[in-house]
Amino acid sequence: MQCKPHSGAAPRGAAVSRNLYELVTQKIVDSLKEGVVPWRKPWRTNRSLPSNAVTSKPYRGVNVLLLGLGPYEDHRWLTFRQAKELGGKVRPGEKSTMVVFWKYWQKEDEAEGSDSPKRKTIPVLKYFNVFNAEQCEGLALAPILHTGTASPDDRIRSAEALICSMPNPPFIEERGDQAFYLPSEDTVRVPKISRFDTVDHYYATTFHELGHSTGHEKRLNRKGVMGKIHFGSEDYGREELVAELTSSFCCAAVGIDNTIPASASYVDSWLQSLQNDPKAVVIAAAQAQKAADYIRGIDLAD
Ligand SMILES: [Zn+2]
Repeated sequence: MQCKPHSGAAPRGAAVSRNLYELVTQKIVDSLKEGVVPWRKPWRTNRSLPSNAVTSKPYRGVNVLLLGLGPYEDHRWLTFRQAKELGGKVRPGEKSTMVVFWKYWQKEDEAEGSDSPKRKTIPVLKYFNVFNAEQCEGLALAPILHTGTASPDDRIRSAEALICSMPNPPFIEERGDQAFYLPSEDTVRVPKISRFDTVDHYYATTFHELGHSTGHEKRLNRKGVMGKIHFGSEDYGREELVAELTSSFCCAAVGIDNTIPASASYVDSWLQSLQNDPKAVVIAAAQAQKAADYIRGIDLAD
């Protein structure tokens, strides 16, 4: 599971799960329609990934996108109650932002003819509300240290280190003029770095293809990579979204700017994927979080 409530943040929402998926999807769709791709961010401008102001735990999966939709520079978020715990308060009139998590319910599987019914686990999406530290006053929080933008050399070193340290990696070859992942040969192919307009674009592309490679059966075994997927199908669209988001999470981890302009056809295909399946963005973001964790060698239990 990707999105658990942070300590001190009691889940409030008990919305009908499907409606909640639709609500999350609508926020992402609205942003795409306004021409803003929520996962393409200038991470190198020292914008840290969102985390809880009290526990310092990072928000994960689709919450990274939801919290990134706001105008705030501060990456720290907290609940109404946590603001009080820190000796401050949310400013009157400030609007909260929703974050989601899954709660697991145990249910008996009532298969006919079974004397000992098995229990199955059903994930139900829930939400709670948080505020950005900039929406509060009087908080006992240290000021954010602006360390400045990492130099291009530092960003390249970090990105290379991430690629080189990926556990159980695919074969990576640099040639040709197209980037893709070939599951049958477990090979990522990307053009040489000199063929890209920026180094950031090269690494964002490489992370995208490495994202696909995490779906190989010897890694996370995703249907979108190992199944029979047809170009333009819903599964194809979702796997592309997983790779996009994986790239975004990896770029954020090493400070690579992935604000590559998205072509109208890409935006249309994402919109189609999201609008055809209200669960697509939440599930794709969860799978992407796992994929990025895999590439980074982070082993987080569900
Ligand atoms: Zn792709």
